[in-house]
Amino acid sequence: LFQNATFLVTVNHLRDLPPHTGLEVAFAGRSNAGKSSAINTLANRNRLAYVSKTPGRTQHINYFTLGNDRYLVDLPGYGYAKVPPTIRQHWEKLLSTYLQVRPQLCGLVMIMDIRHPFTPLDQKMLEWFLPTGKPVHILMTKSDKFSRQESSKALFEAKAVLAKSYPNCTIQLFSSLKRLGIEEAENAINSWLSK
Ligand code: GDP
Repeated sequence: LFQNATFLVTVNHLRDLPPHTGLEVAFAGRSNAGKSSAINTLANRNRLAYVSKTPGRTQHINYFTLGNDRYLVDLPGYGYAKVPPTIRQHWEKLLSTYLQVRPQLCGLVMIMDIRHPFTPLDQKMLEWFLPTGKPVHILMTKSDKFSRQESSKALFEAKAVLAKSYPNCTIQLFSSLKRLGIEEAENAINSWLSK
């Protein structure tokens, strides 16, 4: 799916979003939740998303081309405590506006550490995005940190939260370390991008 992904551009203002006429899928998550690892795992590459972690790009939106006018969008990780308030505000505005108004965006992949799902900022992201009616697919990453039984329980509980508050969201277990859940994630993303 992301095998041919190549870095395109770093964006720090809405006016600089690439004006393509294709489709894009965005990845969001709390910093350290495992977003870069998940992107790299799905791309079957070691350092793809770490491009987004080079200093100066971390708080920006990073675009990768997938070919065929399809794009992967790596959104800035949120929830990092040491960010100054002015930068945080700029960032919240950028993220919320992007999620709400970007027509090319066809779905959001959210990364949640299985040990800390639905943090307040995760919920904020979901609430910004849900009015668009577009689908969200959640990867509960680092599922290798839990036993099989604990993982099933966490997934079950998360599904209950979704059923109650966030329809239009699907969720699965994922582990970059153990390479678990790759096919399921690809199927979800493919179904959006192949429209
Ligand atoms: P990001 O800040 O969301 O991009 O997170 P990273 O992908 O950089 O991962 C943060 C930390 O979690 C790193 O130390 C990774 O090695 C670790 N990590 C990421 N995915 C997994 C996983 O599936 N299992 C385990 N055990 N650790 C992971």
